[in-house]
Order: sequence, then C-alpha cells, then structure tokens
Amino acid sequence: MPTVSEAWQNASKLIDRFEAKLLLASCLGVNRTYLITHDKDVLAESVFNHYKDCVQKRAKGVPVPYILGKQEFYGRPFKVTPAVLIPRPDTETIVEFVLAQCPIDSELSVLDMGTGSGCIAITLALENSNLNVNATDVSPAALEIARANAKNLGADIHFYCGSWFEPIPASQRYDIIVSNPPYIHREDEHLKNLGYEPISALTDGFDGLTHIDHIIKNAPSFLNEKGLLVFEHGWDQGESVRTLFKKHSLWKDIQTIQDLGGNDRVTAARLF
Ligand code: GLN
Repeated sequence: MPTVSEAWQNASKLIDRFEAKLLLASCLGVNRTYLITHDKDVLAESVFNHYKDCVQKRAKGVPVPYILGKQEFYGRPFKVTPAVLIPRPDTETIVEFVLAQCPIDSELSVLDMGTGSGCIAITLALENSNLNVNATDVSPAALEIARANAKNLGADIHFYCGSWFEPIPASQRYDIIVSNPPYIHREDEHLKNLGYEPISALTDGFDGLTHIDHIIKNAPSFLNEKGLLVFEHGWDQGESVRTLFKKHSLWKDIQTIQDLGGNDRVTAARLF
C-alpha cells in the first residue's frame, strides 16, 4: 500500500493536485494538515481502494462535491447528490440581498421556489430567525436532500412538492419570493461542462427566461402588498429580466445587483 504522500502525488498525475489532497483527506476523515503531518503513514487497503475509486470518478469529470457528497455554502456544509444543483458562491449574492431587505426584528414570510439542495431557504432561515421560510421543488428527490439539509443544519422550513406555484394553497401570501430557477440558455456553451448536474435545474430547454417569466406573471397572486420578488439569473440576463418585470406595470423598484465577479446576477422588484 502507498503512503499518504505517495497516494496523493500519484493521483496528481490524473487530477488536480489540490483536489487529490482534498479527496484523500475526505477518504481518511481528516483535514488537509493531517496529510502533511502523517505523510509517511501507510494507507489501509480499504482507504486506498476508496481513494482510487474517488480519483477515477474525478478523472472522468464527476464534480468533487458529488464525490464528497457535500458542498459548503455561506459557511455551512450542504449534502448534495446528483439530484440537486451544486450550490455556487454566486448564489450568496441573492441570499445577501434578501437578508439586507429584512429588518432584523420584523417577522416576514419567504418562499424559495425551486429550492434544490435548499441552500437559499435554509441559509435565510438560519441567518434571520424571524423569517418564516417555505420552499418548493418539483423534484421529490431534490426535496429529500433539502429536507435532510434542513434537519442537519437545524432550520425549520415548510416544504412543498410541485411545479412553481402549483402546490401553494391559493390563499397563501408571502412577503418575499426568491428563486434561482433553471436560467441557462439551451445553446449556452457552458451547459456541456455541467453534464453531471440535473439538466432540468439548469435550463428550460429554451432561452432560459421562460420560468422567470412564468413566476413574474403569477407571483402577484401570492405576494403581500409591497412584496418582493427576487431572481438569480445569468450574467447577461439582467436587462431581459428587468424588461419582463416592466411588461406587467405591477412592479416598482426594479433593480439588478452584481455578484462578487461584477456580473449582473440578481434582479428584484416590489409589488405596488
Ligand atoms: N449558476 C449556475 C451556472 O451558471 C446555473 C444555475 C441555474 O441555472 N439556476 O452554472
């Protein structure tokens, strides 16, 4: 059996060096410093076999979070499987924007549509305990992951299974609706590099705007007066999303916010 340092150095011939160390640390159940302090330890056969399996998956292109079964978002570990999109750092932009709109002592109701791993809904609930957070997803497999994350992280979320507003009782009203819907254009180059993630969470199979349009049209029936509707969208969709809001003349304070990379990422509007 190889030693710790031999194992990750050999793996570095196939995959990125940093990822080789990350995967080995995970197989050993230790942090990366341990790999330095125990570099001459010989690996147990079971650990080595597991590691080889992980390295092979990575070499084939499986994203690291799916191999590890987790991804950090807003400083918390979220369980992920191929049933859900891997949480992206860009999505922290929508979370920060929504938190900034919520005075710390006012109780507001929030609906996160198409929650996936639950990263937006759960983070909002944990960052502001006055928020009453609800979330939907059309995929029962995704909801199972979101429920597990809510339980593990101690967030109290009410989940609904169904397409967009379909599962929401007609009398229900929220102060804030947020969504990170499948917004990638079906011809976007980027899509082919995302082949391990659920395609239905990435694109509408059209121009990436159909779900956003659907939600803008229907949200007024589910929002309180002056309620806020907030989307994450593609770097080049800010203007299109603002135009969709403007089409309905029900919305004011239409604004687009940039992510840390300086790209348009979030557009929000308030109901009159
Ligand atoms: N932000 C993701 C990406 O560009 C896409 C997420 C989505 O479609 N909601 O990879």
